[in-house]
Amino acid sequence: MASVAFIGLGNMGLPMALNLVKAGHEVTGFDVSASNLDGLTSAGGKSAASAGAAVAAADVVITMLPAGHHVRQVYLGGTGGGTGGGAGGGQDGGGVLASAKPGALLIDCSTIDVDSARAVASAAADAGFAMLDAPVSGGTGGAAAGTLTFMVGGPEEAFARAEPYLALMGKAVIHAGGPGTGQAAKICNNMVLGISMIAVGEAFVLAEKLGLDHQKLFDISSKSSGQCWSLTTYCPVPGPVPTSPANRDYQPGFTAEMMLKDLKLAQQAASNSGAATPLGAEAAALYTVFANNGSGKLDFSAIIKMLRGTC
Ligand code: NAD
Repeated sequence: MASVAFIGLGNMGLPMALNLVKAGHEVTGFDVSASNLDGLTSAGGKSAASAGAAVAAADVVITMLPAGHHVRQVYLGGTGGGTGGGAGGGQDGGGVLASAKPGALLIDCSTIDVDSARAVASAAADAGFAMLDAPVSGGTGGAAAGTLTFMVGGPEEAFARAEPYLALMGKAVIHAGGPGTGQAAKICNNMVLGISMIAVGEAFVLAEKLGLDHQKLFDISSKSSGQCWSLTTYCPVPGPVPTSPANRDYQPGFTAEMMLKDLKLAQQAASNSGAATPLGAEAAALYTVFANNGSGKLDFSAIIKMLRGTC
């Protein structure tokens, strides 16, 4: 069994770390919010007082942090060479790269911008560490059930080493290519999701105006060329798919503010790389209005309410 350091024990990180504990690994956690460590220690994990202390003896380091500047700070130390800094990547001053033991495998599972992922992976390689970006799809439910999908960027050998650990937390572990391609896959996928949810929402709103029943549109479109995940798995109106958030007043699920975060990352990457993404830009604009209206904590499928003009 391996010694694993897990940094960032929030809504996603804690249940992921618990699956590693369950599998028999020795997990040492660190989070700037000390109370987030209780869930790990009560399940048999250990807590550390800093990121540096958590990683000192670890064979594998896993991070699950909010955004790119947190990841830069936790790995690089200080302000991480990024904007914003944030509190306490390690109150001992150094980041993961300064404190991890030689040969440790570094895996960042956060959803962050491609440029930060590549910058940190490059610094890790310079310091002699193998590093992967491995963002996930599947939400808190998938994290608890161990059924996440991991999209992994980085060297082939590092991927082979990481796979057995990631498989304890997910049902699908896919190597996307070199450094940063896991993040690229995540934002491309979620840009499709954001756009398709708006498209499906618009179709239901138009159907309402034309006197076409929700269930009838679902029955027809789910067997026609409009078929897509946003319709058949996550239908934004109550009824046709009983498990979709529409049936529980749009409690998440995947919040609109998280969707907005990913759409903004996609727009940032599109702008940096010169890719044309006009529908991605429009989706980001619509989710910005929706979140600014106070609906950011609702499931992202609730955007249909704004399209209908009811919020
Ligand atoms: P969260 O805010 O619940 O957890 C983040 C944790 O990181 C917090 O506990 C916070 O205290 C800790 N943290 C922040 N800065 C730190 C630092 N410097 N050192 C140590 N700990 C620090 O967020 P989450 O929902 O767990 O999401 C984590 C990542 O996963 C994000 O990048 C998010 O976009 C991505 N993600 C989330 C979901 C979801 O449904 N929640 C789904 C897929 C991907």
